[in-house]
Amino acid sequence: MVIVMQAGATPAQIAAVVARVEQDGLKTQIVRGTERNIVCALGDDRLVDKRAYAVLEGVETATPILKPFKLASREAQPADSTVHLKTLRVGGPTIAIIAGPCSVESRPQMLEIAHAVKEAGAHALRGGAFKPRSSPYSFQGMGEEGLMILAEAGAATGLPVVTEVMSAEQLVLVQKYADVLQIGARNMQNYELLRAVGAAKLPVLLKRGLMSTIEELLMSAEYILSSGNPHVILCERGIRTFEKYTRNTTDINAIPVLKHMTHLPVMLDPSHGVGQWEYVPAVARAAVAAGADGLLVEVHNHPDQALSDGAQSLKPEVFAALVKECRAVAGIIGRN
Ligand code: PEP
Ligand code: MN
Repeated sequence: MVIVMQAGATPAQIAAVVARVEQDGLKTQIVRGTERNIVCALGDDRLVDKRAYAVLEGVETATPILKPFKLASREAQPADSTVHLKTLRVGGPTIAIIAGPCSVESRPQMLEIAHAVKEAGAHALRGGAFKPRSSPYSFQGMGEEGLMILAEAGAATGLPVVTEVMSAEQLVLVQKYADVLQIGARNMQNYELLRAVGAAKLPVLLKRGLMSTIEELLMSAEYILSSGNPHVILCERGIRTFEKYTRNTTDINAIPVLKHMTHLPVMLDPSHGVGQWEYVPAVARAAVAAGADGLLVEVHNHPDQALSDGAQSLKPEVFAALVKECRAVAGIIGRN
């Protein structure tokens, strides 16, 4: 950490800062400039609260050097990590495609769409049985019955299934049916839930919060990793901005930034990212071009009748075209 002292800082104030740094277990070195002095705190400063320094008398700024996340960082592991979805390695040369409806709505709906997305080239099946809805009056998901239907559709197609777990209490139940545990955007900072899935054996698909920074996403991944589960996939799904023409704003930037900062696989959900089906294929292609390791796409046989997120759901034929287009883009950047 670099602690820049104010121009008129007194020797007593500098000594107090030095004492505080040493009390935190770090070594110090003072760099004396013509206008101001700098106290360098040497050692691992990740556990130190920089704001505690910024408020000390005579301090102008306190800036940590090390990133606050450890296990998720590229420094900790330079090589890409891969997460297994049955036979597919997410984070390897193949771009993983997870597709299916926003919600499991009925057995016929789920079985029909499962076969359709498999036919189109999907590697895994999604479907929510517990839905985090903005309104308590909206469809909340089928619960355990939905999980059973999802598992049946997965078994019928041979596709691993991805579904959201909304609370630590739900985990025991969801684990019985899921192959991958999805942590939704609204729960990205539910630290109790992150610790719970961190103690689980299944891979975790961690979605970025609606108003979370990239660093906060990585800190949430750090909760899961430090609780013992190394199988974490990050998922950008659009953030809130002032833009009104789309539901969210897909942060394409997050893909190369995350790939630089972390070894964890990075996926993109263009469906929630843009929120209107017409724009989903273009954003999906952009994600592949930007280096995403996978896509999470909402597909429905009858979007106009969907119980959630129909407006952003692709019909199976549009999804099949998206897969073809993404295959072409992947070829250009040496992936498949
Ligand atoms: C979803 O995947 O259907 C979902 C609710 O996503 P998010 O948590 O990103 O809003
Ligand atoms: Mn949805």
